[in-house]
Amino acid sequence: MKPYIKPKYEMADVFSKYGSAYRNSRKLPLSDHKVMNAIESCRTEALGGHLDKCAKCDYTKNAYNSCRNRHCPKCQGMNQLKWIDKRVNEMLPIGYFHLVFTIPQELNSLCLMNKKEESSLNTQNPKNQFEKAFW
Ligand SMILES: [Zn+2]
Repeated sequence: MKPYIKPKYEMADVFSKYGSAYRNSRKLPLSDHKVMNAIESCRTEALGGHLDKCAKCDYTKNAYNSCRNRHCPKCQGMNQLKWIDKRVNEMLPIGYFHLVFTIPQELNSLCLMNKKEESSLNTQNPKNQFEKAFW
């Protein structure tokens, strides 16, 4: 597994700088506000702190609490690396490609209200699944 390299800018930095303007410029579901707030406050004084103590020696270190939100890149960083490592090990020695497609704008609100279904449709043959569900 590749070691974690801290990025120059984190999602929390972007949200802290532009999040408020972004949220004020559009109507977002409450769940999106909660995720953005969690990521912004993760490992800051806003969530309080605790004392990490080594089990083998007396070394201690103050640390801020994590948000533990499943969308937070800081909290899910190690899980993400493990997941990627597993997927890489499952890959066949053939060429792969990444497919991106756009859905009609008229379906945006329908997809926002049915995120689970929309997400599962997009991971399996998206064109056929989407047509089955909405046409
Ligand atoms: Zn977090």
